[in-house]
Amino acid sequence: INVTKHFKVTSGLLGLQSGLVRAVDGVSLHVNKGETLGLVGESGCGKSTLAKCIMGLTPVTSGEVLFANKALATWEEKALRSKIQMIFQDPYSSLNPRQRIGSIIREGLDIHTIGTKEDRQEKVNGLLQLVGLMPEHGQRYPHEFSGGQRQRVAVARTLALDPQLIVCDEPVSALDVSVQAQVLGLLKDLQTQFGLTYVFISHDLSVVSHISDQVAVMYLGRIMEIGPSKALFDSPKHPYTQALLSAVLLPDPTKQSHRIPLSGDLPSPMDPPTGCPFHPRCPHAFDKCKNGRPELVAGESGTNVACWLHNA
Ligand code: SF4
Ligand code: MG
Repeated sequence: INVTKHFKVTSGLLGLQSGLVRAVDGVSLHVNKGETLGLVGESGCGKSTLAKCIMGLTPVTSGEVLFANKALATWEEKALRSKIQMIFQDPYSSLNPRQRIGSIIREGLDIHTIGTKEDRQEKVNGLLQLVGLMPEHGQRYPHEFSGGQRQRVAVARTLALDPQLIVCDEPVSALDVSVQAQVLGLLKDLQTQFGLTYVFISHDLSVVSHISDQVAVMYLGRIMEIGPSKALFDSPKHPYTQALLSAVLLPDPTKQSHRIPLSGDLPSPMDPPTGCPFHPRCPHAFDKCKNGRPELVAGESGTNVACWLHNA
């Protein structure tokens, strides 16, 4: 039995008005079944493009995306594709305002005419309870719910399709902190109960640290550092990871380091810097960083790091 899901995106190109942008560049990731891979970075770093590559929504120009060891490009089979689902930041925009919650959740089941009508309604009631709502809620409309409840509805709709892998793109970023914790707790419980695998995308490191087994830090379409969540948060090795971490309040205040300011803006992905893409903003940059691009190598804390300081 193969318990590993691999997906590998060697390069994804995104078409924009003014040309082609290499949005995801040489990224190779895998996530174990039943675990969570966190993808962190500033907006524009290629996280969402990577998610779209995984979902098959963006063509991958070279390389391939593998799921359950099958190349996604070859699986026209709806069965396999439906095993990968996505949850978005703003469920409101993806929930039809004129449709009752129950019918929104039931839609996927209706389309595939799974079971009898009664079976499907029963399944919807069960799903509503699973995500902490009540069967009566099925009669209501999206606007009657809070942001957190709408995200629960979106989760129930996703679960109706029996997914194995769920790509969560900033799923709690629009919610208040206390509600964030509840939705994260729900996602974790469901993961344990159903053996779900998550790719969890966020710009918020503290959110990612709570839910992820492995974390990848992205910058301008490349992975800067990747490894077990604990190693990455306890002992970040890449200057970019260190800067991101220094800007958030960690659960353990004794680990709080002084803030490392990130100078300058995120460079345009149209015109990425030569050498290490982080060099114009890196406090440790030296000559070599301007020309040579560091590859990911194993660092001493258990993460892989793309930085010349760790790649002698
Ligand atoms: Fe900084 Fe150089 Fe490391 Fe890039 S390679 S992160 S510029 S020290
Ligand atoms: Mg995004």
